[in-house]
Amino acid sequence: MTQTEANRIIDRLTYGCNWNRFDEPGVQAEYQRALMKYGYEQMNRAVDIALETDSKNVPPISALIKICKENRPPSFEVHNDTHCDVCNDKGYILQTEHVKNGDTVLQYEYVLYCPFCRVGQAQAYNGNNRKDHKCNAVCEPLTKYYDERAISEIRYANNHPHIMTDEEKETLRKKLTRIGLRMPIALDRGDAWEAETCPF
Ligand SMILES: [Zn+2]
Repeated sequence: MTQTEANRIIDRLTYGCNWNRFDEPGVQAEYQRALMKYGYEQMNRAVDIALETDSKNVPPISALIKICKENRPPSFEVHNDTHCDVCNDKGYILQTEHVKNGDTVLQYEYVLYCPFCRVGQAQAYNGNNRKDHKCNAVCEPLTKYYDERAISEIRYANNHPHIMTDEEKETLRKKLTRIGLRMPIALDRGDAWEAETCPF
């Protein structure tokens, strides 16, 4: 939660209880610091529970944290009823973008949610639409970057997983063997790596 929200919780505790120590030096700041580690809704609910039990004294921080942990909202998982051949039921695809930064090229991976299935729709997020904690974090639908043709290619690829041919298997085996052969098998203590020819 934000500092303003933490202060709102402290106000609730101040007005809801008969006795508090918030006017003592450091107490309010300590509550603020501890509260800000938790979500506003979660802590607000914990205050409700604490005040139902005892509204005489402001509950100690440890009690509020304990209530928070004991009353986590139930998490639920979304499943697809039928297999989604766009995202393979993952709900997202990763898009790699290369951004040039001077002489180097930086590689970024973005998560795009799949709008074709329930798992994907549950990943949609736009921080700007939130009533509280507005932010610029956005998880966009893959349809924003992939047109119909590209999506049908993804569907096709997922429905026809590539099975390696014997030739491809042999090429891979040779590559792996080559790496294995070039690796130093054993060096006595004191043997310098420079004496070997670097295979790479
Ligand atoms: Zn999907």
